[in-house]
This record gives sequence, structure tokens and C-alpha cells, in this order.
Amino acid sequence: MAKRVYLFNEGSKDDRDLLGGKGANLCEMTALGLPVPFGFIITTPTCREFFEAGNKLPHLLEQEYRVALDLVEKKMGARFGDPENPLLFSVRSGAPVSMPGMMNTILNLGLNDEIAAGLARKTDNPRFAYDSYRRFIQMFANVVLEADGEQFEHEIEKYKAAHGKRDDVEMSAGDWQEIIRIYKTLVDFPEDPFVQLKLAVEAVFLSWHTPRAYVYREMNNIPETLGTAVNVQAMVFGNFGDTSGSGVAFTRNPSNGEHSFFGEFLFNAAGEDVVAGTRTPLPVSALQERLPEVYAELFRTQAQLEKHYRDMQDLEFTVQEGKLYMLQTRSGKRTGRASVKIAVDMVREGLITESEALMRVSPEHVESFLHPMVDPEQKTEIVATGLPASPGGATGSVVFSAEEAVEVAATGKSVILVRRETTPEDIHGMKVAAGILTELGGMTSHAAVVARGMGVCAITGCGGLSIDYAAGTATTAGGVVIRRDDVITLDGTAGEVMLGDVPKTEASSSEDFQILLSWADEHRRLKVRANAETPEDAAKARELGAEGIGLCRTEHMFFDAERIDQMRGMILAENREERQRYLDKLLKFQEEDMLALFRVMDGLPVTVRLLDPPLHEFLPHSEDDMVALAGRINKPLEKIRAMTESLKEVNPMLGFRGCRLSIVHPEVTEMQVKAIISAAVRAIEEGLKPLPEIMIPLVVNVREIRLISEIIDRGIQAVMKEKHVSVPYKIGTMMETPRAALGADRLAPEVEFMSFGTNDLTQMTYGFSRDDVGKFLPMYLEKKLVESDPFVTLDQRAVGRLLEIAVSESRARKPGIKYGICGEHGGDPRSIQFFHDLGLDYVSCSPFRVPVARIAAAQAKVRRETEARRT
Ligand code: ADP
Ligand code: MG
Ligand code: MG
Repeated sequence: MAKRVYLFNEGSKDDRDLLGGKGANLCEMTALGLPVPFGFIITTPTCREFFEAGNKLPHLLEQEYRVALDLVEKKMGARFGDPENPLLFSVRSGAPVSMPGMMNTILNLGLNDEIAAGLARKTDNPRFAYDSYRRFIQMFANVVLEADGEQFEHEIEKYKAAHGKRDDVEMSAGDWQEIIRIYKTLVDFPEDPFVQLKLAVEAVFLSWHTPRAYVYREMNNIPETLGTAVNVQAMVFGNFGDTSGSGVAFTRNPSNGEHSFFGEFLFNAAGEDVVAGTRTPLPVSALQERLPEVYAELFRTQAQLEKHYRDMQDLEFTVQEGKLYMLQTRSGKRTGRASVKIAVDMVREGLITESEALMRVSPEHVESFLHPMVDPEQKTEIVATGLPASPGGATGSVVFSAEEAVEVAATGKSVILVRRETTPEDIHGMKVAAGILTELGGMTSHAAVVARGMGVCAITGCGGLSIDYAAGTATTAGGVVIRRDDVITLDGTAGEVMLGDVPKTEASSSEDFQILLSWADEHRRLKVRANAETPEDAAKARELGAEGIGLCRTEHMFFDAERIDQMRGMILAENREERQRYLDKLLKFQEEDMLALFRVMDGLPVTVRLLDPPLHEFLPHSEDDMVALAGRINKPLEKIRAMTESLKEVNPMLGFRGCRLSIVHPEVTEMQVKAIISAAVRAIEEGLKPLPEIMIPLVVNVREIRLISEIIDRGIQAVMKEKHVSVPYKIGTMMETPRAALGADRLAPEVEFMSFGTNDLTQMTYGFSRDDVGKFLPMYLEKKLVESDPFVTLDQRAVGRLLEIAVSESRARKPGIKYGICGEHGGDPRSIQFFHDLGLDYVSCSPFRVPVARIAAAQAKVRRETEARRT
């Protein structure tokens, strides 16, 4: 039978899967000789056993952990359940993947009336003993007995009011004893410490299935099957008196990444008080003034841990009567800016390699360099200030609860969630909020940590703000009343609250970010292009590192107000001459647009897709619009109506679109080609280097390509002959029908590149209409009928298989074809790994995703190299 219980000196940091992250790191710190209160861990497989047995602890488990418990007692010199010399435990959850605050912790376990009295005698500190006892009952009732937590706080408030006490510090031992007496009338609480322990272990296992833990796992792609370990650890007490306290610290600043020790501390407080954010803590430097030796040891320890783990650490510690205890270390969550700065700094410091640095930055983190910030020039009066908990700027309507946030956000409004503090119960509201503002809590409070993780702008500890949930108001220290539904702006970078919508600037880059991107460029094999039509988007894309345009959707150029009527006239034309008149005008527009693109993309390839959407998309649909159009282009209304009617389709996505348009209207294709090549000629005459690539959409067979290539060639030759300039160009096809993918070997001889339009390919492989999936895909996701949205992350099994077939068979037929991706998947990190593995040449994505794709492409390669070295 596998061992189910491990002492803290029996594991190491590599045992995350078995012992959970918290447990593995407690073992590692113990092995490093750091002051860790001793304890034992019940393994994660035991959790799975527990669930499989219908939420029953394995038969021999209690026997097994009692053996470990004896050893802990020996080491700690105290005994569990002994009133004369009591040992108390914390019972803590800890999954293989960090899920801060998502599951339950029970502190001070092992107290009852008799033992509390003994603890008071032994410590000669009755106030501490009874404060600990009431905390224990409260937590135990909450977590194990599933009592309503509010009622306990309510009783304390009532008692304080009746006895003229303002805060906890004024509560005496007698007061707490009275509170305990009241608590015991509210819940039926087991006096036997061993019963308490067993129930607590069960409760920790069960907490794996709380709704908030589900939501967190879903958001972070954590498998449901992992389960949690249980850490049973000797208690140390931060609430023992003035030379005691608890703190949380980071080895570097988690907001901006600066290499300075950063933390918060509360004197005479248990750790839960820091995390809960109900009292606003002091900076850890306060410890340096009042307990310099403790501070020195803490400082040494944090440096040692960072070096040992070779990553920024997030520490939890407690000081009891001037002695330091380490309670937790883990890789610290950080903002995108911080993650980049820390990774680059650590390479400079020789702590990690460039490849490691690349793997440390999540593609999502990169986006924070690209997010808006409140424009410093345009700030309005600052009505309140708090801690800059999570950077960026956000504007929205004020709501006061998570439920309201969800409701209002569903109407399409941007919301700012305003709370006294947040708890894991608020996750669903935080998820939809544009910004979060809390009255209480520090930089390490729940609100701050979660917001940073989500990349949502947040301000915490906004002192002086007084929130009245019932009235739906938040009143600032200066008397400004912010009401429900008012629009406010948060500057999460500065911690400032302003009224109204304050303009935001575009996100700015940083030197470290550029360095990291340059490493990414050195390490990646996949090229990254952008999908762009306008010169502005193209310029942005190039600035963000795009190595060309992978998809220029030419139809977008015709939707412009000035041009749409020419397009409509062309579609509605009744004879060749009339159509040609419109085409000549469209050619002029198209040529100018293409020239602008070639200028921006000088020296880089520009893939231009021939007209793709069904023609009815260009026509007016309402009667009023038709009447107006009739006047403007001088056509009888009847004609317009009849034509619009005749272009209607039952399945437009499978209808008259893509290269089918070129087959029926070759003159349109000819116009487009002439425009592209004429623009290229002009670019060459300007001394530039245009590299047009003409792409045929929605192909199903080689005959289409042959026929359309002829039209294209004819257009190109005509222009080149007339202008006496030779333009380098390529002709290729979009791969977006299953038939094209399965017949790629036959297409190969006719093309120089193949670009997978994975949106349409996904649509046609699944038979899921892109425009209608909203009606059923959420249910598919909820019921786990699909693993993820196939329009976001490429489905490797079937759509990916089509790609594999297409690439391998066409490559075998004709080596040297260039392969690219131009669907949404081109900017999705998980899909990028697949495209790398497949040996494609480039991905193309929206301009703002380009830096993300550059990093993801580098990570794809580094990941495989690292694996190759391991095996
Ligand atoms: P989480 O996973 O949510 O961080 P923890 O298991 O770390 O939960 O527990 C929360 C807090 O409880 C810790 O930050 C710490 O302050 C306190 N705590 C846990 N174990 C002990 C202990 N053995 N002695 C004193 N305080 C403890
Ligand atoms: Mg913790
Ligand atoms: Mg398409």
C-alpha cells in the first residue's frame, strides 16, 4: 500500500504532484534548515481515494497519521489534546497547482474549553488563549460545520456595541470568553481534538469541490482530477502580543518587478488578518524598526529562498515573541510588467538563461504592455487614493456586488466593482469587471492578488472611502458621494480614483520588454505576420514586430462610405460597360489603398486575399437605405430590390463567395489584380520593395486555381507590359475547406504558398456556423462536450489532422511551398505550439497579438528543445 502520510522532513520541492505545492515547499524549506513549524502531509492520491470511496477517508488513514502526529509532538515538545502542554495545529489545503485562498484552512485546531484554559495558564496570556479559541470555533464552524460566517462577526459587533468597545484590541480575555459562550449556542461543536482533526481533514478534501474552486480551476485550466493534499502543521502565534505578528512578502516587487524586498506586516495579528485585508498592514520595513533581528533573519531568508528557487518568491511568515517562523513559499504571482522585468533582470544577474526567461513570461502577461493607461495629461480631480494594486486604467459604471457586476456587464456596459474588501466568493464579479476598487486590504489582499493575476486594473486600501452597500453609495474622505451607476475612472498604476471617463493613452513598451522580445526573435523559428488592411493597422503591426501582412482582406477597403456605392453600383450593373465603369473607379481606390500598404510594409510580404464575402453583404437591406441608394446611383428602386432579393442565400457561409466570385465575375478579379500590381509598380518607382502575394480564397479543387491563376496572370502581364516594370509576386491559395486540405497534393504544383484559414476550416470541419455557435457552444463547454472553444484554440484532433495531411502531402509533392496560418488561431499560444510542431513558416494575427505570438513562438521552440535535452 502506498504511503499516505509524509512528515515535513520526508519530501522535497519536486514532490508537488504527491504533496501539493504548499507541502512540497514546506518540506524543501525544512530541508534548507529554515524555521518551519513541524508537521505532516496527507497526499493528493489520498484525496482521490477519498472521492472515489464516496467522500470517505481510507480505513487506515487515521492510524497512519497518528504515528506521524506522535513524531510531531516529540519534535515540538508539546502534546495534541493535552491541557497541561497543548499542541495546536493548522490544517491547510495545498494542491499541486497554486490556488491561493480557493480552498480551506483551519487554524488553532485542538482547542476545547479545558485545553483553552490550560493554554491560558501555560502561556500566562488568557487574552491570547481565548482569542485563539474563538477564532478556532469560528473557522471550524464556517469550514467544517458549514455555518453562516456572517453571524459570528455579527455577534462580535453586537457585543462591542453593547459594551462600548471599538475594536478587537479592546476586547479582554473575559470578553472573548463571553463571545465563545454565545458561539456555542449557535453551533454544535466537537470537543474531542481527534474528532476535530478528522473532520477538518475531510473538510479540506471537500473544499476541492467548492464553487469558487471550480471557477478558479476553469479560469486557469487546472484539471479537476488533481485533488488537494492536506498539510497538518504545528501552530505558531502571531497574535501573542506586541513582539508577535504576521506578514506576507515578495522577494521582488510584484507590481513593477523592482529588485527590492517588498512586504506587509501586522503586529499582534494572525496571518488570516493580513490575507483577509480587514486591517490595513504596515510595510515590512516597520519590522526593521521594531524587531531588527527578526527583520535581518527574514531578509536573509528571502534572499536565500529566491536564489534556491531561482524565481521570485511569495512568502508567508509569522513572528511569535520575537522568533521568526516560515509558513509558506511559492513562486509569486506578478503583473505582466513585473514578470518581464524580473525575467530580464535575472538573466542579467546570471540566475537564469535567456530560454528560461522566455518561459517565465506568460503570453497573457505580454498584453499588459499593450493595455491602455490613464493619460497623465488628462487626469481630472482625484477624489480618492489607494494602493496601486494592479496597473492599467479603466472606466466604468459603479456596482457594489459581484452579482450586480455580472448583471450590468451582461448588458455590455463596462463596470467598476466597488467593495469594502473582496473574498473568493466575488470571483465571478471580478472576472467581468473592468476595474476593482476596495476600501480595505493591502497590496497582497485577495482583491490585489486576484486582479493582478487577471490583468484587471485595481486599487485596494482606498482609505477614507466609506461604502454603504444598502444605500448604494461610496463617500470619499472629501465628502464626494459616488453612487451606483456613476461612471468613474481608476488609475491602477497610481492608485487614483477620478469621476467620469478620463481618456487613456495607448499602452507603452519598456526597454526590458524590447530585450525580451529580441530574445524571442532569436529563439523562434515561426515568423509572425499580421492581419491588417489599413495603413494605420499595418504601421502598428510593423511597430509591434510583424514581419509582413499575412492577410489583407480587400473587401474591408470597399466598406468605406465613399466606396460602398461604387461597389454597389458594380454589383447592380446590368451590362458589361456599366460594370466596367464602376470597376474603373474601384480600381483607383484599391490601387491607392494597396500603395499605402506597400509603403508601410516596404521590404516585407503582403498577402492580399481576393474578394471573399457574399455580395449581398455589400447591399442595403432596409427599405429606407434602398430608397436612398436608388437616388444616389440613379437606379430604379425596383431593380435594387429585385437584385437584393436574388442575391439572398439560405446558407451564405457555404454560398456564393470566395473564389466562386472570381469564377463568375472574372472582371472583378482582374480589376483587383491590376490594382495590386499597379500599386506595386508605383512603389517600385518610389524606390520601395513591395512583395505582393495574391491569395485565392475558399478553394476546393485545382481547376479553380488554374482558371483563376490565368485571370491573375493576364492582369499582371497587362500592367507590367504597360508600365515596363517587373514586379516580383507570388500566387497562393487559402486552405479553408476540408476538400482543399485533403486534396492538397493536387493543389501543390499550382501554388507557391498555402495559408490555412482556420476559422472557416474549423467551421466546415465541425459544421458549426461561426455566426451561430453562441446559441449552443456555451452549453457544449459547460457539459464538457468540447474541451475548449475550437474557434479560439485549434482542435488538434480533427482540424489539426487536416492540417497535417495537407502539409505532409503537398510538401511531398512539391517541396518549398510556404505555409502560414491566418485565422484567429494564429495568435493563440496553445495553437502556436501546434503550428510550430507542424513546421509551418508563419502565423498571422491581429496587430496587438503580434508580440504575444512572438513570445509564444519562441516558447514553442524552447519547450521542445528542453524536452529533447531531458530525454
Ligand atoms: P492559503 O493557501 O489560502 O494561502 P494557508 O494554508 O497558507 O492558506 O493559510 C492561510 C494563513 O493561515 C497563512 O497565511 C498563515 O498566516 C496562517 N497559518 C497557516 N498555518 C499556520 C501555522 N502553522 N501557524 C500559524 N499560522 C498559520
Ligand atoms: Mg498561504
Ligand atoms: Mg474564409
